[in-house]
Amino acid sequence: MNILVKELVKIMGEMVPARLAEDWDNVGLQLGRNEKEVRVILCALDFSAEVLEQASQLHADIIVTHHPAIFRSIKQFTDRDWRTGLLLEAARKDIAVYSAHTNLDSVAGGVNDVLANLLELQNVEGFAGEDSMEGIGRVGVLKEISDINVFADKIKSVLKLKHVTVIPAGRPVHKVAVCGGSGMDFLDCAVQSGADTYVTGDVKFHDAQEALGKHINLIDATHQGTELPVVNELADRLALRLSREGYTAKVLVAKETQLLQTV
Ligand SMILES: [Zn+2]
Repeated sequence: MNILVKELVKIMGEMVPARLAEDWDNVGLQLGRNEKEVRVILCALDFSAEVLEQASQLHADIIVTHHPAIFRSIKQFTDRDWRTGLLLEAARKDIAVYSAHTNLDSVAGGVNDVLANLLELQNVEGFAGEDSMEGIGRVGVLKEISDINVFADKIKSVLKLKHVTVIPAGRPVHKVAVCGGSGMDFLDCAVQSGADTYVTGDVKFHDAQEALGKHINLIDATHQGTELPVVNELADRLALRLSREGYTAKVLVAKETQLLQTV
């Protein structure tokens, strides 16, 4: 049984509810026709030229991304801008685009649960959440207290990264807070959670100073590197859900280049 875009949107909305998204975010169907039949779904972190090219070659009907394909308001829809140009190309090829962003960060089994799992954190709880929500990030403890360099090596190996940036505050690593992507806004929440170590991406020099001042180890495992692992997980969960409901759509995962390469 083929699934329509609108039916897939409904299922994604159940798996990764839009109400978990931050209010500044733009999640859900970004481009596409409700009644289009979907045979092939391509999951990716980003809606990029390389992902659209793969979607095209794989005859994908919809691309499901983490980062919203449309985020800032668009006042011209032309190919003079690379982003609207890509959207135009997708529209021309009748490839829909759906995005689950901060709702995928927060949701159980999302970006930060996948990270916490990969790092083998135990007694995992949410942090940096509003009211009753679990929170965007996750905090948990390592089975054994670790040296920060040993822990950094573990991160490199599980996230398949050549480099991570370490800002040691002189504390052994035991209670670890994680927030995939760009999590420096939540540094204080990480401190409040009692973590001795915070793993996130997009760390700037003054962020490092801030962390040092607050006596928390900081590890920048890159924005992309901390978020890529969720794509496979989402694809697996989506494929399982679709087959359970009798849909035959294939779920594929895009190959994405590490954008920031340290040489
Ligand atoms: Zn991100």
